[in-house]
Amino acid sequence: MTSLDELPLRDDLRGLTPYGAPQAPLPIALNVNENTHPVPDEVADDILDEIARALREVNRYPDREFTALREGFAEYLGHGLTADQIWAGNGSNEVLQHILQAFSGPSRTVFGFAPTYSMYPLLAQGTGARWVAGVRDDDYALTPESAAAQVAEADPDVVLLCAPNNPTGTPMGLDVIEAVYEAARGVIVVDEAYFEFAPHDSVSALTLLHGRPRLAISRTMSKAFAFAGARVGYLAADPTFIDALRLVRLPYHLSAITQAAAIAALRNSATMLRMVDEIVEQRDRISATLEALGYQPHESWSNFVLFGGVTDPPALWRALYDRGVLIRDVGIPGHLRVSAGTEAETTAFLEALASIGSPS
Ligand code: PMP
Repeated sequence: MTSLDELPLRDDLRGLTPYGAPQAPLPIALNVNENTHPVPDEVADDILDEIARALREVNRYPDREFTALREGFAEYLGHGLTADQIWAGNGSNEVLQHILQAFSGPSRTVFGFAPTYSMYPLLAQGTGARWVAGVRDDDYALTPESAAAQVAEADPDVVLLCAPNNPTGTPMGLDVIEAVYEAARGVIVVDEAYFEFAPHDSVSALTLLHGRPRLAISRTMSKAFAFAGARVGYLAADPTFIDALRLVRLPYHLSAITQAAAIAALRNSATMLRMVDEIVEQRDRISATLEALGYQPHESWSNFVLFGGVTDPPALWRALYDRGVLIRDVGIPGHLRVSAGTEAETTAFLEALASIGSPS
């Protein structure tokens, strides 16, 4: 077999490793922040009917502008948004890729505050851009002053703000986003993949969109909507920002089947989202139990918990693995991350952890 070194690969891709969260067939999988509750049966039937209708016309290309789906997202998001302010892709990863294809690229810079979502540097490198990581304060928080100063210094073409942040769960104040917008010349993307798990009275960065043409807010159906396998992410921004994304997307990038599934799921959003409160309850139970066991959970507004006080993360990860529980070593010294599962899965994780013994 040929090795990668022998292929005429782009020089800037040599030596890189692909995204690689382990996909192991363990009974308790709490490693990639999925919603571990299946799509409710009554919604599944409605989604299947919509897919069946789409299938009868699948000899034709789908609506390239996915108009009905964009209308559905505008209605779901509220804030007076209209379909011309909405974009969507095969997962928010593709939406982010479209942004970077349009606004980054060779000789350009993409900036984020580390530790943050592991795909950001990979997406940046994929377009040939340079990834620059800023730093966070204690407990991974950010002040408007520090965030703005770092962004002004780096002068990036794209800033990726993850709110709440993965893998730490840390919330981000709207004042930070406003300060970064003012300090930057480039586009600002607020990745609200986990927004639905935040406290009910928390305010979305969608409220900042008016009058900020360089701002975009991305969301996903992969988490709260329990739709990770369907691959649907979306974004709200100024209509001109959306026009920029049309320059780089592949024609018909959202299949007729994907559009049908997402439209039907959105139509049932109240039912699709009904497990969110239960997941938040399990997340808080994880944090409380971790603390009682002697670990240091970080505040989380998402569906996972990052916890410190782990003497040997790879060893604890392996010990849980051997007990049938898959969580994530995100490479932060002394830490591991676990997603909130169903009540039974969460119990299995907590009992496995307790059986291994408390940290020294
Ligand atoms: N943003 C963040 C912060 C994430 O954690 C993830 C998935 N783990 C994504 C985006 C991408 O999700 P998807 O492509 O499934 O929408």
